Amino acid sequence: MERVYNFSAGPSVLPGPVLEKVQQELLSYGGSGMSVLEMSHRSEAFTAIIRDAESLLRQLMGIPDNYKVLFMQGGASLQFSMVPLNLLNGSRRAGYADTGSWSKKAIKEAEKSGTVTVLASSEGEGYSRIPALDLSSASGFDYIHITTNNTIEGTRYAEIPDTGDIPLVADMSSNILSEAVDVSKFGLIYAGAQKNLGPAGLTVVIVREDLLGRCGAACPAMLDYGTYAQSESLYNTPPTFAIYVTKLVLEWLRDAGGVEEMEKANRGKAARLYAAIDGSDLFENRVEAASRSLMNVPFTAPTDELNREFLQFAASNGLKTLKGHRSVGGMRASIYNAMPLDGVQALIDCMQTFERTHRQGD
Ligand SMILES: *Cc1c(COP(=O)(O)O)cnc(C)c1O
Repeated sequence: MERVYNFSAGPSVLPGPVLEKVQQELLSYGGSGMSVLEMSHRSEAFTAIIRDAESLLRQLMGIPDNYKVLFMQGGASLQFSMVPLNLLNGSRRAGYADTGSWSKKAIKEAEKSGTVTVLASSEGEGYSRIPALDLSSASGFDYIHITTNNTIEGTRYAEIPDTGDIPLVADMSSNILSEAVDVSKFGLIYAGAQKNLGPAGLTVVIVREDLLGRCGAACPAMLDYGTYAQSESLYNTPPTFAIYVTKLVLEWLRDAGGVEEMEKANRGKAARLYAAIDGSDLFENRVEAASRSLMNVPFTAPTDELNREFLQFAASNGLKTLKGHRSVGGMRASIYNAMPLDGVQALIDCMQTFERTHRQGD
């Protein structure tokens, strides 16, 4: 069976060895005679899987002991609501950075629970850079929210802002584990798994313990971080298979040298792709250099027709799902941890061939 290079933004490419292991273990996990798909979430085998997944994540990210790791459902989008529901409990004021479509959605949900101050926005510049947070008025906020990597616009925080005593909350859906981060700088980190971590259906939340238990008496149990923390994410049935596959991805990452090696590889892949785009007379990336994402690289040709032609040409060469988000157009190459350098090089070769043919055809 031939595999393509899949540049999808999410759900996205998983490491080949992980998929092979899933296949090997699918009918009988660990000699149990049953699939993880069929197993009780309270069985001994699954308990070991979820514990391993947590301890691998703790080890790989260097998560301090005073943080809980929660395995949940509902995607990053449910976190847009859960974060304000749980954390807007003092002044009921929060600061948000508006850096793209996902942060806009997060802001909209938070406004239902309290008062949002937008501390930075690059909307007027088409979200082509990460604006600095204006912290001059930032006192008394219950938290400040950022999106560390903007999947659609292709921007990333090169440096995590210092918000002092105000808990920093981060949507890390599309760049968790892609580079080293100091977890102690954050009050809460959340990520939908389907970009850089595993399959759809799982959301990971990393939360400092002092931020738990503030959701209030009327808070539905399933929307209270405390419920997940107290039950070790087993209050109800968690997304068992997604947790299992994520555990395999974390093992793969550890065996590949951990986050440090991943970051080196990701920087190398991104640098090569941006250099090819910048050196091209046909393709363009409009993001300010210092804000460029290591994970999602949008680029365009001068006309819609050329974009369409290129997408077709790339697909016929086994380079799939390169179409840009509908709000941005053009192309987008998502080059997550599991995308090998060979895939990025194949894309560059394809762009260069297309450009040459296009010039000859002029
Ligand atoms: C994909 C994505 C989301 C939405 O994730 P869902 O799991 O589909 O809810 C939110 N934020 C960012 C940064 C994303 O990339």
